[in-house]
Amino acid sequence: MTTPPQTVAVLGTGTMGLPMARNLIGAGFVVRAWNRTRDKAGPLVADGATVHDSPGEAAQGADVLLTMLYDAAAVAAVAPEALDALAADAVWLQMSTVGLVGTEELANLAATAGVSYVDAPVLGTKGPAEQGVLTVLAAGPEEIRDRCAPVFDAVGSRTVWVDGPADGGTRLKLVANSWVLALNEAVAEAIALSERLDIDPAVFLETIKGGPTDSGYAQVKGASMIARSFPPSFALDVALKDAGLILDAAAAAGVDMAVTAAVQRHMARASELGHGDEDMAATYYAH
Ligand code: NAP
Repeated sequence: MTTPPQTVAVLGTGTMGLPMARNLIGAGFVVRAWNRTRDKAGPLVADGATVHDSPGEAAQGADVLLTMLYDAAAVAAVAPEALDALAADAVWLQMSTVGLVGTEELANLAATAGVSYVDAPVLGTKGPAEQGVLTVLAAGPEEIRDRCAPVFDAVGSRTVWVDGPADGGTRLKLVANSWVLALNEAVAEAIALSERLDIDPAVFLETIKGGPTDSGYAQVKGASMIARSFPPSFALDVALKDAGLILDAAAAAGVDMAVTAAVQRHMARASELGHGDEDMAATYYAH
């Protein structure tokens, strides 16, 4: 006897959620999707998903709830009605980046509803989401990890289970994002300095290429800055939100994050200049 496919309710089909939903369908899951702006979920119908009018309708009878929304407030606004509609023994994979305070709030909602909560933010931007090669940073009860694996394997190429604190996925995500944001900012600074010193910035990128201080990020984001072309892979306003989450966690833990504080200041300036919907590489405009 074959097991029927698992049903996943995907709430949030933005830059990340849409390709993740598509990869779940490709892996054989039944996907029930909802997005605040319904039109953005529309393309999934051709892939075989159903698109629903409300989070509760999308979650009706689902085995897995997957949230991929902007922030904790957005998730908290829709989670209760979805949690109430899930199948008995369903699990909630919370994959949005919501910080430590947000994770505690959402885990409490899950506990109230009696649903198992897995803290599972991801590393990787739009391209890796489309290719199904995200890195999932997960924390959650040992006994439900096997059930999560097929979902994580559909959207990612690697799952790092963090033992210890229930919010370990988010803790690791904040650490990793502090690194990503710092790299992006350092590239912007070097490109801007290079241009103002009348050194062709392409020559700077060529000079570091292949050496110990090179990185894929330097080459990709640097080329984007030189071309002043910023199609959103990781939107600047989303990255700005993450800088705030990192600084909140750092303040609570007593770490002086001077680099992330500078990232936040520059990204806020670039956003004020109208670049919030562009890729975070547009922090270049703050220099
Ligand atoms: P996005 O394209 O801006 O999508 C955001 C999603 O949140 C959309 O579905 C949006 O709905 C929804 N949303 C925003 N505010 C809402 C509200 N108040 N109520 C209900 N829905 C709301 O962002 P994304 O890049 O996919 O990011 C999603 C999450 O993944 C974020 O937590 C982000 O930090 C994280 N993340 C992103 C990346 C990346 O590289 N992009 C990488 C790792 C993690 P509408 O369509 O109606 O606006």
